[in-house]
Amino acid sequence: MDKVLIIGAGGVGKVVVHKCAQQKSVFKEIHLASRTKSKCDAISREIKSRYGVDIPTYAVDADKTAELVALINKIKPDLLINVALPYQDLTIMDACLETGTHYLDTANYEPLDEAKFEYKWQWAYQDRFKSKGLMALLGSGFDPGVTNVYCAYGQKHLFDEINKIDIVDCNGGDHGKAFATNFNPEINIREVTAKGRYWAQGQWHETNPLSVHQGFDFPAIGEREMYLMYHEEMESLAQNIKGLKQIRFWMTFGQEYLTHLRVLQNVGMTRIDEVEYEGQKIVPLKFLKALLPDPGSLGQSYEGKTCIGCVMEGLKNGQSQRKFIYNICDHAESFKETGSQAVSYTTGVPAMIGAKMMLQKKWMTPGVWNMEQMDPDPFMEALNQDGLPWQVVEWNSSIT
Ligand code: NDP
Repeated sequence: MDKVLIIGAGGVGKVVVHKCAQQKSVFKEIHLASRTKSKCDAISREIKSRYGVDIPTYAVDADKTAELVALINKIKPDLLINVALPYQDLTIMDACLETGTHYLDTANYEPLDEAKFEYKWQWAYQDRFKSKGLMALLGSGFDPGVTNVYCAYGQKHLFDEINKIDIVDCNGGDHGKAFATNFNPEINIREVTAKGRYWAQGQWHETNPLSVHQGFDFPAIGEREMYLMYHEEMESLAQNIKGLKQIRFWMTFGQEYLTHLRVLQNVGMTRIDEVEYEGQKIVPLKFLKALLPDPGSLGQSYEGKTCIGCVMEGLKNGQSQRKFIYNICDHAESFKETGSQAVSYTTGVPAMIGAKMMLQKKWMTPGVWNMEQMDPDPFMEALNQDGLPWQVVEWNSSIT
């Protein structure tokens, strides 16, 4: 097990290719496909000159299962790493089933016409993957991904019972642009403009978009305002962490970003339904994506750091405890290593590590799994070795 096919040559895809190419003994053959072959070729040239590794490239429309099946049958990879967009998750999973290929992604399936984040579509593949002896690892990015593994680590080593989790995500960096998103603008804006949701006492509670917020003192960054949002990892963590009574997700935004977003929303530019324009049908959010800076291009002038982690409260030996596990990642250092900023880096590294866990059979169980269902220890060890070191500290202040 050492041959991978990576689909998606965007900001995250580029980091995944770099990180796989750095570990030649694990990833003996790396293939890269995307909708636009020239993007794959540019990454392939960079990898050849930096690491001397050959990356064959291909054009594929991952919305079409038959095209994927033909490509997979030609390459015969052991594992497919899906870092295209969430809309393609199901067609790619279908192709993996048809060709007998293990599967990994970083974001859960979303229907194109509705900003809805739910695992139900992918969890429905459980029996089919299991009966074919195949594994699908869902959400192997940072959040979801590392945040799930942090919770599993907390459950295994730090607490007898975790009662409350707050996932906090801060990008304290500055890219120097008036308005840009750090990953795919369409996916990002759909996520941010959706209603907030958190889980408490066995049920989901909804809040108006970005209406609940508070300050948090992020290590290495300082005090920032963070906003309660819905985020997909809460759905599986609410089911898989024993004794959990509440889980919330918070992300920081600057005032400049929020003002631009409000104006864009107010004028209808974030709509995801089709509108008629000069005899053509266009989706305003897709058009906006075409105008905004490519997230992959932000790295050049990006300064500052990200801090993402989990504040967990619970009991250990009958005593109340509050711990914070987190990573700090530097935009400029990420760019120096991979040519991508820290948001792509913090997603691409865990995708590579998840793939490594599967290829090395440290994580290899047929079926469809979320990250916290696996043993956290080898993954946590790899995070320290592969560029995303973590820390655990006592955390004195409670998030209200
Ligand atoms: P980009 O938009 O930069 O890249 C997406 C890539 O997918 C592009 O290269 C695009 O191809 C390709 N693609 C899109 N549609 C198709 C298709 N139909 N067939 C083949 N290729 C296609 O996004 P990012 O790299 O920023 O994000 C990648 C994924 O990572 C997304 O799913 C995102 O949600 C996820 N993510 C997860 C995070 C986490 O922490 N878990 C955080 C950030 C992102 P082309 O350029 O050729 O058009």
